[in-house]
Amino acid sequence: PLMDGQVADDHQITVCVRKRPISRKEVNRKEIDVISVPRKDMLIVHEPRNKVDLTKLLENHKFRFDYAFNDTCDNAMVYKYTAKPLVKTIFEGGMATCFAYGQTGSGKTHTMGGEFNGKVQDCKNGIYAMAAKDVFVTLNTPRYRSLNLVVSASFFEIYSGKVFDLLADKQKLRVLEDGKQQVQVVGLTEKVVDGVEDVLKLIQHGNAARTSGQTSANSNSSRSHAVFQIVLRPSGSTKIHGKFSFIDLAGNERGVDTSSSDRQTRMEGAEINKSLLALKECIRALGKQSAHLPFRVSKLTQVLRDSFIGEKSKTCMIAMISPGLSSCEHTLNTLRYADRVK
Ligand code: ADP
Ligand code: MG
Repeated sequence: PLMDGQVADDHQITVCVRKRPISRKEVNRKEIDVISVPRKDMLIVHEPRNKVDLTKLLENHKFRFDYAFNDTCDNAMVYKYTAKPLVKTIFEGGMATCFAYGQTGSGKTHTMGGEFNGKVQDCKNGIYAMAAKDVFVTLNTPRYRSLNLVVSASFFEIYSGKVFDLLADKQKLRVLEDGKQQVQVVGLTEKVVDGVEDVLKLIQHGNAARTSGQTSANSNSSRSHAVFQIVLRPSGSTKIHGKFSFIDLAGNERGVDTSSSDRQTRMEGAEINKSLLALKECIRALGKQSAHLPFRVSKLTQVLRDSFIGEKSKTCMIAMISPGLSSCEHTLNTLRYADRVK
């Protein structure tokens, strides 16, 4: 467990949980907040066992993580303890990943992409942008300036086992693996970025491509994994020095759509289930040399393969929690998954 102000930059896997505030809409429909965060590393689900009197016969499910963020924490605070310590990793020649996991509506996109003001995502206060800002700050420090690194970024979506470029009109892309198990997304747009303003434009562009033409309640974005990547290369070289991947995962409740009467929905659900299970195995085995890891089982784990292998790889997972009683089942599923990742 971390003490106040201490940042987890010494271990390979950091698992955190974030409770989002109860919304006005939820208050209006008399939704009850069943989550408490009594300590900086603990979260409790108070599951009522008596549906008539909700205050009685509570079953408390206690979970401990590296960090538990209460609903009063903002994105900057979450960033500071999750992705920020990993910026150094990519300058030191390693791979870093940051996952947002949880059910639809729990705050994954809010945390990663930035606050939604009803019309557009204000991406400046999202983890993508805050990390990009720190990448440019670090790039210009005396320690790393002499490496002459070039920064570029890409943004794509994995939907139903297929890859779509969010920076190129959602063009469908192929994934190739060579004999040395190097994975490549063929033709993926990778834009060189000279500063955080460039990055913000890309994020805005990608966010818009991701959500266009969808209703929020049942949107495709809840069934897709969005992957934003910042890549460092020595000037004039194609070899990767370090890479930071940020993944806004598909809603984990979609994995149970396998019982839906709609065939398409069922197949998408099965695919999401498969990818999230494979992801768990790959994160658990982070940095270990293991031949039989299920990288190839899903597109998600296949494209992230190089981020899981290697001693310098680091990962953080932020499990997002909706506070309401009606989300209780999904919340417990999320917490159990996050619990097993480490
Ligand atoms: P997800 O991407 O997991 O489906 P969203 O990020 O879209 O969920 O969040 C659902 C809603 O809750 C959005 O309207 C979002 O603005 C709001 N929200 C999420 N997290 C927070 C938070 N920490 N503070 C305030 N509002 C939040
Ligand atoms: Mg979302």
